[in-house]
Amino acid sequence: MAKRDYYEVLGVARGASEEEIKKAYRKLAVKYHPDKNPGDKAAEEKFKELGEAYEVLSDPQKRAAYDEYGHAAFDRRAGGFGGAGGFHDPFDVFREVFGGGSIFDDLFGTARSDPSQPQRGEDLRYDLEITFEEAAHGCEKEITVTKPERCSTCRGSGAEEGSRIRTCGTCGGRGQVITSRGIFSLAQTCPHCQGAGRVIDRPCRSCRGTGRREQTSRITLRIPAGVDSGSRLRSSGNGEAGWRGGPPGDLYVVLHVKPHEIFQRDGDDLLCEVPVSFVQAALGAEIQVPTLDGSASVRIPPGTQPGTVFRLKGKGVRNIQGYGQGDLHVRINVEVPSRLTAAQKAKLEEFAELCNGHENPISQSFLEKAKKLFR
Ligand SMILES: [Zn+2]
Ligand SMILES: [Zn+2]
Repeated sequence: MAKRDYYEVLGVARGASEEEIKKAYRKLAVKYHPDKNPGDKAAEEKFKELGEAYEVLSDPQKRAAYDEYGHAAFDRRAGGFGGAGGFHDPFDVFREVFGGGSIFDDLFGTARSDPSQPQRGEDLRYDLEITFEEAAHGCEKEITVTKPERCSTCRGSGAEEGSRIRTCGTCGGRGQVITSRGIFSLAQTCPHCQGAGRVIDRPCRSCRGTGRREQTSRITLRIPAGVDSGSRLRSSGNGEAGWRGGPPGDLYVVLHVKPHEIFQRDGDDLLCEVPVSFVQAALGAEIQVPTLDGSASVRIPPGTQPGTVFRLKGKGVRNIQGYGQGDLHVRINVEVPSRLTAAQKAKLEEFAELCNGHENPISQSFLEKAKKLFR
């Protein structure tokens, strides 16, 4: 089913202000709240749709992504925005805006995180592609991340130098006020402090009083040896800046390892298929096999069959927890010559004449079993 445009869902113009978006959401969310429309499936869908639209359009970062890429920005399969996936429960969004659990209970605002207290910043996710060798050996990577950082001008306080920060008198620092509208009592965001719970005489000009500024920074990641696709690294404190002096969130780096041309990985073990000529397989040979750090020689005995696996101990990937090193499994593939000269053909025919079956015990045993069926 095609998704409706989020602006259309909220009935606002593309350039709508944050306040207009919030107002539109409040109006419609009350109208379509399931408590008010028991058993009405269409209303429930509308309510969910509203929650999703509001969640995106009320967040400047998500809104920018939506404006640029549309719904694709949040498509997890396409590895879209953030990739952290999923939308919140529409009731959570509702609670966040209204403060209470439902419009019929918790009318006087349950314990909500105090808007005047420091708050930890959001965690971020970054998807990083690395090569097979980088995953096996470990590496150092520099990534560029644009995220809200602590404003350096006001050092996160949101106030101009010398400006006072007061607790909001309208809401007493709670960030919300209770208003009555017809039959509803609503906990609403304080109109005086916009929910911040505090008022700054002169807000910092660099960050407009938020204490945070979007900044691009380079972060060096140390990726340990032995990581694999799906490994998640935490870069402590490199998430979004906190609010009101709160600590920053963390940055989670999710690794994606590119496949290798020769090696396959199975945990800490490596698998590699090596072709040998049928003469080498028959006579035995010393062959060179590739390893992660160059090559190793393997002695294959005379009469080696295709599919035989030789194990090179400790030539796999280093265990990420430091428990030793995996093995390299070399699987022998026998290549049958596809083009023969007349002379080669003659020699092989001569060879065939010299054969009496004993040199092919596998074929012999197979024939014995199959004979019963041939009759
Ligand atoms: Zn500032
Ligand atoms: Zn206030």
